[in-house]
Amino acid sequence: MSDVKHMKWWGWGVEGVGFHWQDKPGFAPIVMKAIGLDLHTATPVQPPVFEDMTIPAPVADAALLASLAGIVGEQAATTDDMERVVHTYGKSLRDLVRIRANAVERYVDVVVYPADETQVQGVVDAVVAADAVLIPFGGGSNIAGSLEPMGGEKRTVVSLDLGRLNKLISIDEKSGLARIQAGVLGPDMEEQLNAKGWTLGHFPDSFTHSTLGGWIATRSSGMQSDRFGDISDIARGMRVVRPGGAIAIRGIPSASNGPSVREMILGSEGRLGVITEATVQVHRIAEKRDVYAYFFPNWKTGVETMNELAASDVHPSITRVSDPRETEFTLATSKERHGFDKFAAETMLPFLMRRKGWNLDDICISFIAYEGDAAYAKRQKKLVESIVKKHGGMGVGAGPGVLYDQKKFDTPYLRDFLLDMGAAGDVSESGMPWSQVVPLYDAVRAAADKAFDEIGKQGWIMCHLSHSYHSGACLYFTFSFAFGDDPIGEYDVVKSAIQQAFVDNGGSISHHHGVGVEHSPWIEQDISPEGVAVMRGLFAASDPKGTFNPGKVVPDSAPAAASTR
Ligand SMILES: Cc1cc2nc3c(=O)[nH]c(=O)nc-3n(C[C@H](O)[C@H](O)[C@H](O)COP(=O)(O)OP(=O)(O)OC[C@H]3O[C@@H](n4cnc5c(N)ncnc54)[C@H](O)[C@@H]3O)c2cc1C
Repeated sequence: MSDVKHMKWWGWGVEGVGFHWQDKPGFAPIVMKAIGLDLHTATPVQPPVFEDMTIPAPVADAALLASLAGIVGEQAATTDDMERVVHTYGKSLRDLVRIRANAVERYVDVVVYPADETQVQGVVDAVVAADAVLIPFGGGSNIAGSLEPMGGEKRTVVSLDLGRLNKLISIDEKSGLARIQAGVLGPDMEEQLNAKGWTLGHFPDSFTHSTLGGWIATRSSGMQSDRFGDISDIARGMRVVRPGGAIAIRGIPSASNGPSVREMILGSEGRLGVITEATVQVHRIAEKRDVYAYFFPNWKTGVETMNELAASDVHPSITRVSDPRETEFTLATSKERHGFDKFAAETMLPFLMRRKGWNLDDICISFIAYEGDAAYAKRQKKLVESIVKKHGGMGVGAGPGVLYDQKKFDTPYLRDFLLDMGAAGDVSESGMPWSQVVPLYDAVRAAADKAFDEIGKQGWIMCHLSHSYHSGACLYFTFSFAFGDDPIGEYDVVKSAIQQAFVDNGGSISHHHGVGVEHSPWIEQDISPEGVAVMRGLFAASDPKGTFNPGKVVPDSAPAAASTR
């Protein structure tokens, strides 16, 4: 369907946009320092060529194809190879390495683009009747292996792309609730809401290429979640198409009506049906939104400040602090500065920090955002800054915050750049109580370093704290190393070590990326064997034929021992 936008088939975002380091003087040195890769001499690999891919013929019988085409129209049901490739996987590092290596085990067979909920119902019923598999597709941006068909799947696999369900349906202005179709991409949704003076306030880093339905199905969190909540707070109601009918959960702020079906849909990754629309909390566009930058002398004081902010009465929309390594990396990705800017950042600021007795190797950058009417934003800033000051932090104004705001949606292109250079760059994130933030951080750093030793690679791991709550926060780790002969094998060693350190130190297997097949080996350790048994029972009873995205969230058989991955 030419009117539904997709990312490029082999990487993040759109063709022709990429990460460039030549205008950032600090970038090549930090890559050298971090992973021993010399960007000046490294030869980038060329992107894969579609014609070189080996894509097996689709497994789809004529009767099912005719039935699907009858429901959505000839143009909106396809077995075209490019469509099949785009819909087969998300954007995890494993996905990208495999697609670049022409090593995808199982492609989807058919892609359909229903135009409305009636057509979604028709597709669901036809797929169930044909004993095929159905995988809902939003923006294809997940990084947990939530989309790929299971290897060895013999049945026809149908990818149901929600891209045509992309409209704001209505707004209940008195309640601040909007009904929105689930296939809408972030920017298209905000454009429609903004035109009426509203915003959802949900801005994941993948905002440009992910959808409302995908956010709900993975329990997503946006960078302004401190103020607007995670999608699990925002999505109050939804419609979910299942065989023979739809679950209708009305948009109600809070309800005591038994175990929450709404909560069951959140994070279900397509296993309970197809979300066609949601009723979501929306907010009037704020008069002011300013992101300010601060520095702390070290990680411990940065974390303590975030903890105290969460326990206080202030409500910034972003509270984020980077560890010393991520701070160094952030500063190294700045463009060449000139004139007073150069003097202020490279001479004056370090001078002031040294005069305070700070060790420049330990400093941590922080971004805090204030959002609301002008008086509210001003008061919030004043209250926050009294806490920052108490912990010895130092404000450096809105300049770096403006840059952070501008760069935030470009950063994902960095991973493709590193892959071009033969290196891994990936992330893992976890939610934990405040008491576990520092112990978990230390344990993950140690586990990753041990894993880098194990694969014989110079590696780098850095972190920031973001998404604060009353009782805890999210730690978001980014790690990198130059590949050897076995990219996926090496990656698995490092990624597994980090995931294991999360569950061993009081953290969740993920704070907002979901489970898919990449985090499911640790689900039992996260929610207990009984928790997994209940979830298996739910999926088995509600989907006895295993039609809906089988194998995701909980492995269909007993999970492989996490440590042997
Ligand atoms: C560079 C990068 C940055 C990211 N940053 C963030 C971030 O800041 N915060 C965050 O939360 N996540 C982030 N992610 C992860 C990803 O964007 C989220 O998981 C997102 O919610 C996925 O949405 P999607 O529309 O792309 O879903 P998809 O990837 O298409 O699908 C994800 C899962 O949801 C199911 N699904 C999708 N739509 C529906 C539907 N309508 N009904 C039923 N099931 C459905 C799919 O079957 C699949 O199991 C990032 C990913 C990348 C690559």
